[in-house]
Amino acid sequence: MTPFAYVRATSLADAIARGGASATAFVAGGTNLVDLMKYQVARPSEVIDLNALPLRAIEEREDGGLRLGALATNADTAYDLRVQTRYPVLTSAILAGASAQLRNAATNGGNLNQRTRCYYYYDVATPCNKRAPGTGCGAVGGFNRIHAILGASDQCIATFPSDMCTALAVLEAKVCVTGPEGDRVIEIGDYHRLPGDEPWRDNNLRPGEIVTAIDLPAQGFATNHTYLKLRDRQSYAFALVSAAVVMRVEDGIVREGRIALGSVAHKPWRVAEADALFAGKPVDGDFGDVADALLAGARGQGANDFKLALAPRVIARACTQAAHGTPQIQSDKRIA
Ligand code: SF4
Repeated sequence: MTPFAYVRATSLADAIARGGASATAFVAGGTNLVDLMKYQVARPSEVIDLNALPLRAIEEREDGGLRLGALATNADTAYDLRVQTRYPVLTSAILAGASAQLRNAATNGGNLNQRTRCYYYYDVATPCNKRAPGTGCGAVGGFNRIHAILGASDQCIATFPSDMCTALAVLEAKVCVTGPEGDRVIEIGDYHRLPGDEPWRDNNLRPGEIVTAIDLPAQGFATNHTYLKLRDRQSYAFALVSAAVVMRVEDGIVREGRIALGSVAHKPWRVAEADALFAGKPVDGDFGDVADALLAGARGQGANDFKLALAPRVIARACTQAAHGTPQIQSDKRIA
């Protein structure tokens, strides 16, 4: 690990003032950053600890929604009774991720800003345009089992691994940030980026900006929802393909639906045309057209070609479960 200075921010203003420099890094739970520092992937000269800031609360909003503090842990968020009852797809997604120990330390802000799990990104002996711009991409033509089938570029085919953010995508959450230029709110769909020609940029945070909260709207889709995660083993593995689905169902007919895929692209993958196909379907209808719209343009990279066959099955099963109001508990592998 490269030597670094450690400072504890005493206020948001203090953190913002310190965080503007390029060689600084903010830390909260540290469940990703510390690994990156050990691997020499991240080499900040100064680490600014945000844990003393008052960003840990989960609070009611006047519009009937809920505000999740950026420093609230993933565990505190998942087990908050209001989240469990009003936004169960979020609880399910969070509990599908990592391990209990990691969820106890990892924060909501850190979950948003975690880096890809591309093997080459973590191996400084290999080329990687995300870690070292201009060096190439080891995963293109390499071992790319966990990589993207949608939205990739010839510069980077990495995926964004978050379960939590896939659920936030269908809930249409908003990310509250503050920084040197003041406060702003970013729609979750605009927060993460596709790699394009700048694969080193995972999201649209500006230099020195800090996530302060995640706002959930009042509509939580508490009755018809599911988060389905397919992975190599049932516990403690990142998704190969996941799907968050929420629906509003009346009289056996889907009136509104939203779906996002996780671990297939550089951000949670949503397609407006796919969501539009839900309205009017009977709950026991066929969701193949949703899969076709969502996966339009999907392309394998070799070792991940299996995702092209897996994704439509995940979509069909997740949509069926959500439509019938039988969300899958992550410890229950039966097909509803
Ligand atoms: Fe780096 Fe992206 Fe290529 Fe992985 S896929 S090696 S993160 S450039």
